[in-house]
Amino acid sequence: MKDLKRCVEYHGHKCMGLLMGYRAAKYALKILKEQTAKDEEIVSIVENSSCFVDAVSVITGCTFGKGNLIFKDYGKMALSLISRKNGKGIRVYLRSENLKRDKKDIELMNRVLAGKASKKEISIFNEMKKNREKEFMKIKDEELFKVYDFKGEIPPKAKIYNSVKCDKCKELVMETRIKDVKGKKICTSCLNG
Ligand SMILES: [Zn+2]
Ligand SMILES: [Zn+2]
Repeated sequence: MKDLKRCVEYHGHKCMGLLMGYRAAKYALKILKEQTAKDEEIVSIVENSSCFVDAVSVITGCTFGKGNLIFKDYGKMALSLISRKNGKGIRVYLRSENLKRDKKDIELMNRVLAGKASKKEISIFNEMKKNREKEFMKIKDEELFKVYDFKGEIPPKAKIYNSVKCDKCKELVMETRIKDVKGKKICTSCLNG
């Protein structure tokens, strides 16, 4: 569980979203028989931009900086992992319908988040949260996830682009992010004001 500790350190706190990302990333790596990427040997496609993603980054080694972490705004707790070595890819989807919380629990959470809970309620809430996380970590991979073959295109490797000077702000910009406006080269941030 050393790697879980690394996720918590990176993310800043322990939460359910982080644990979900951790479980998804560990399981996907296991199925693909892959290791944490040092370079771009694997690609991750995440379908949400929540706490989930931070654990995926730590466990898979896929980051925005390396260009092998791709975000699709689908709002789903799912991760696709693709190996560049053999072109194999899978998608794991977390079946959160199996993680229903009871009404009382949700009511209490809303009170805590709204700052309306008493000290005692807060400690009860924290205890429940800990238990929920503990229980979550015990669920078997096969029960927690649906596994699919990855069907999309393998995203191309990160490229290095030339830099071009913007005629307005005079800053250097990646050549793919500059537009020709009436014969002048203008960057996206200048275009957006
Ligand atoms: Zn979090
Ligand atoms: Zn500019």
